[in-house]
Amino acid sequence: MYFEYESPVFNMAVKQYERVASMLEIDENVLERIKYPSRSFVVSIPVRMDNGKTEVFCGYRVQHNRTMGPTKGGIRYHEDVTLGEVAAMAMWMSWKCAIVGLPFGGAKGGVRCNPSLMSKGELQRLTRRYTSEIINVIGPETDIPAPDMGTNEQVMAWIMDTYSMQKGHTIPGVVTGKDKLLGGSEARRKATGGGIVHLISETLKISNFNGNEVKVAIQGFGKVGSAAAEIAVRKGWKVIAVCDVTGAIYNEKGINVLELISYVGENGGVRDFKEAEEIEKEDFWDVECDVMIPAAVARSIDKKRAERIKCKILAEAANGPTTEEADEIIRDRGIIIIPDILANSGGVTVSYFEWVQDLQSFFWEHERVVDEVKKLLTRAFMQIREVSEKRKVDIRTAALMLGIERVARAKEMRGLYP
Ligand code: NAD
Repeated sequence: MYFEYESPVFNMAVKQYERVASMLEIDENVLERIKYPSRSFVVSIPVRMDNGKTEVFCGYRVQHNRTMGPTKGGIRYHEDVTLGEVAAMAMWMSWKCAIVGLPFGGAKGGVRCNPSLMSKGELQRLTRRYTSEIINVIGPETDIPAPDMGTNEQVMAWIMDTYSMQKGHTIPGVVTGKDKLLGGSEARRKATGGGIVHLISETLKISNFNGNEVKVAIQGFGKVGSAAAEIAVRKGWKVIAVCDVTGAIYNEKGINVLELISYVGENGGVRDFKEAEEIEKEDFWDVECDVMIPAAVARSIDKKRAERIKCKILAEAANGPTTEEADEIIRDRGIIIIPDILANSGGVTVSYFEWVQDLQSFFWEHERVVDEVKKLLTRAFMQIREVSEKRKVDIRTAALMLGIERVARAKEMRGLYP
């Protein structure tokens, strides 16, 4: 293995890949070619801080597979960002785009920083300098960033502006996840959370679930977790527990999600939210519920937590939230897993629509976006189930098989240059 990427998350992505690749009949030379990113960039980002000092941050952009079109993937601002983590997420993006049938390869970017400790001015300077450092390798035809943990519509607007100013004209298609005023798509903001709820509904239909109301527990109440909660409640489900970096809360009767969203907007986290009971963060994993949605960081569910969780469905909104050992335990316990590369694919799917709309300067109505995303996610879900039944494998393995096989076949068809 290349030591450059060595990290627990990258090792996990490679292990998954090797396990599933060995079950596929693909030329081993091709399989070796997609094990590592196609290109990786490491950049230094000097930023003048508000106190007058210059701080240097480390940034990455990794493009995993450039065979099927431009690459696509979010940008993360978080203090734990490493090259290995970014590379793992770029690889998962490749499988994700392939299972939904999007004309993209996977990419990911990140800057090691703590955005909650930075002013708006510092974040803007960081974003503009990071964009300048990677400007030659991103673009609507090469690599299209989007939001991830710690980034949002504002960060996307700064990237788009920096890129456009350098090129001399406005180029909205360089990023997705923008505000609608700048060429963003209807429904993008809630696309990842909405996609998860849609896939949970599809799963409930085929699993003999006979509860009247679905009880949900969510780890992470950022862009994805809060949108999933809002849409779940709109369907009549109850969100009974939420945990984030600040604390954990529980209300058996159901948390008022809209109030919690505005509370978190003002206070930065769920801690001390009045209309729910404060619980220990670790006790979140003991909450009895129908659906648990990890929507925070990778490797949150380890062996111990896997033995404790009490849900019927685990819908992985985060990328890589379950360790390999935990995965096995959860499967053995009969809990249905909706794996990350399927569960959170609603985000990149609506990003694809946003990119298409930007290139055509023709914008779709909200209903059209929602209908189209449901269509693509349902198709991916059915195809994965078909592989699972035919090959007698679990849903995660089936999803990986579908994604990896498609990428490998595309590489085989194009051949090796020169
Ligand atoms: P965000 O920055 O908007 O929110 C992150 C949330 O996680 C916050 O509530 C934070 O408090 C919480 N959190 C962070 N560390 C935690 C910890 N150790 N314990 C408990 N809570 C913790 O990020 P987001 O965009 O909602 O992304 C969440 C996850 O979903 C990430 O894994 C991301 O890769 C994945 N994802 C996001 C998108 C998207 O469209 N934003 C798409 C696909 C996948």
